[in-house]
Amino acid sequence: AMIDLQIKSAIRDIPDFPKPGIVFKDITPILKDPSLCEAIVDNFVARVQGLKIDAVAGIESRGFLFGLQLAGKLGVPFVPVRKAGKLPFSVKQKEYELEYGTATIEVHTDAFKPGQHILVHDDLLATGGTVTAASDLIIEMGGIIAGFTFVVGLNFLNGKEKIKHFADKVVVLAE
Ligand code: IMP
Repeated sequence: AMIDLQIKSAIRDIPDFPKPGIVFKDITPILKDPSLCEAIVDNFVARVQGLKIDAVAGIESRGFLFGLQLAGKLGVPFVPVRKAGKLPFSVKQKEYELEYGTATIEVHTDAFKPGQHILVHDDLLATGGTVTAASDLIIEMGGIIAGFTFVVGLNFLNGKEKIKHFADKVVVLAE
C-alpha cells in the first residue's frame, strides 16, 4: 500500500535517543505534511470499518495527535490515557513494567461507560507494553476493546505478539 511507503519515507531514525543504543523513530516530520496526516486518518477510518467503536482512547502524548482526529472522523468521543498526575478529575490507574522500573497510566473514571467498545490508539507499537497496560486498564473499568490502531510498528520488538488475541482487530499502517 502507498501509505506505508509514504510514512516510512517521512519518519527519521535518531540514533542514541533517548539513550545510547536506542534508535528512535521520529514521527514529527509526518506532522509537517498535512495531506499525509489526512491520509493516515482516512486509512484508519477505512481499516476499522466493521468494528464496533464507541470511543477512541489515545495514549499520551503522540497518541493524541491522530487519536483525536480519528475519533472526530468516526464521530465518537476521545478518551485521553495519560501518565500519572496529569488528569485533574478522579482517575483509575494502572502500573506496568518497563525495561527498568515501572510506569503508571491513568484514565478519568467518567471517560467512558462500562460496556462501551474502545479503540486503543498510539503512534507507535514497540514492545506492546504500553498498549497492553492501557487495554488492561480499560477492561478493568468495564470497557470492551474494539481494536488497536498504530501509525508505525517495530516488528523486531514483537509487540503484536502481546496483543495477538486481538489479531484481526490490530491495524498498523507502516511496519
Ligand atoms: P512499547 O510500550 O514498548 O510498545 O512502546 C510504545 C510507546 O513508547 C508508545 O507510546 C510510543 O510513542 C513510545 N515509543 C517507543 N519507541 C518509540 C520510537 O522509536 N519512536 C516513537 N515513539 C516510541
